[in-house]
Amino acid sequence: MKILKISTFAPEGVFHGFGTRDFTLKELEEEFRSYRILQLKQVHSTKILVEKGGEGDGLISRKRGTVLVIKTADCMPIFLAHRDGEVIAALHGGWRGLCNGIIPAAVKMLQEMGFSPSELEAALGPSIGPCCYEVGEEVFECFRRNNLLFLGRGKNLDLPSTAELQLKELGIGKIHSLPLCTRCHPWLFYSYRRGDRNARMFSFLGLLEIK
Ligand SMILES: [Zn+2]
Repeated sequence: MKILKISTFAPEGVFHGFGTRDFTLKELEEEFRSYRILQLKQVHSTKILVEKGGEGDGLISRKRGTVLVIKTADCMPIFLAHRDGEVIAALHGGWRGLCNGIIPAAVKMLQEMGFSPSELEAALGPSIGPCCYEVGEEVFECFRRNNLLFLGRGKNLDLPSTAELQLKELGIGKIHSLPLCTRCHPWLFYSYRRGDRNARMFSFLGLLEIK
């Protein structure tokens, strides 16, 4: 299987997919060759770019015929879309991004563009799960410093629950998720923790050319 989707995450005029290890960037570019494809040089920051690619960890677009791409191998692709397809945002969610506030940063930018959180839907893609994500002192420390709950099991961080809690606290209308652990499913996903140091999976969120 090349692409996983959440069938309930279907705002009008919006499409998405979470690429498995069998879906290459070349295939993505081929599939959307008539689209404007925005990509990032991801650096675990909270920087979000609007209508352009570049260095950062989030993308926002309001233009039809645009595809936003997030690369992961344990981190979480996080998608936001307006319920009527007015705007989309795609985020790279690792512990640094979640701890330093990439989700509230994106929601704030969307609010400043005129979109209320209650009109937005979120979709959380596959990531490393609480079963496999033991983290070190610097991660606890970062959550403590930012006054955030460390959700997990013992020393294991629960990335999906952390993202979901933040989205709920911000008042996002609907939250959909695909809670599959990338490390537990080697036939589906690459996993940095399992030893895939350079390979990445490609997830996409787009606005159809014609609504
Ligand atoms: Zn696992």
